[in-house]
Amino acid sequence: QPALTARSVVMSYGHTPALKGISLAIGKGEIVAVTGPSGSGKSSLLLCLAGVVTPDAGEVTFGDRRISAEGEGQRSRLRRTEFGVLFQFGQLVPELTAIENVALPLLLGGRRRSEAMTAALTWLDRFEVGGLASTRPSSMSGGQAGRVAVARAMVAEPKVLFADEPTGALDTLAGEQVMAQLIRVTRESGTTVLLVTHDARVSAYGDREIRIRDGQLDHHPARHLASVSG
Ligand code: ADP
Ligand code: ADP
Repeated sequence: QPALTARSVVMSYGHTPALKGISLAIGKGEIVAVTGPSGSGKSSLLLCLAGVVTPDAGEVTFGDRRISAEGEGQRSRLRRTEFGVLFQFGQLVPELTAIENVALPLLLGGRRRSEAMTAALTWLDRFEVGGLASTRPSSMSGGQAGRVAVARAMVAEPKVLFADEPTGALDTLAGEQVMAQLIRVTRESGTTVLLVTHDARVSAYGDREIRIRDGQLDHHPARHLASVSG
């Protein structure tokens, strides 16, 4: 049974269509890169699969749950307990230290402070930034802040990690280091990863690439290239 499926998912913002009937299945533990031009619907697809947005038509399932038919309360609980979300780096809370930033999702989920801090330190260590536990984001490099942000997305041990342009705010070297660690750790834990990116270096880390064009799956990317080159 796949981890996540979309069946004929249609979604628009008012009169702007974003998804025009997308069907796909993502296996447990699979690392999938969603690529395509700006405005093609990548972020919208991620939002539908993560249960943030309800499609106008079609359905989204997670295991045997039809999340597209669930209410906001159920979906927000699902996002908190089973999903991790990672947007462009640099969204750490500036007033909090690294360990406090990483502990935050657990504290918000009602875990005891001592337990949350211990788990946070374990995840900082896993991304080799344990030495920065009491450092605030303003004193970190972009790459360091990136690793802390990944640790925070993983601390609740999500089954699925949704990452939208996770290296967008980083230079090439820092981005590749963060990606390599993200892939290593998610493989170890068997986490399913959906990675939205327009960067071919980032999509190369995936097991599979799903290309989106104009709100639909782009099944024949080679033909587009051929028509461009004449
Ligand atoms: P991508 O992630 O590939 O850049 P998006 O999913 O963000 O694509 O956008 C798909 C389409 O939906 C685009 O035409 C975009 O302009 C439009 N869109 C995205 N977000 C919004 C929004 N909040 N309000 C209105 N239109 C939006
Ligand atoms: P992305 O990085 O996914 O391509 P953008 O940089 O185009 O997204 O958009 C940044 C923010 O603006 C997102 O929250 C997106 O939903 C929103 N947005 C995108 N297109 C539109 C639009 N046409 N109208 C209103 N909001 C939009």
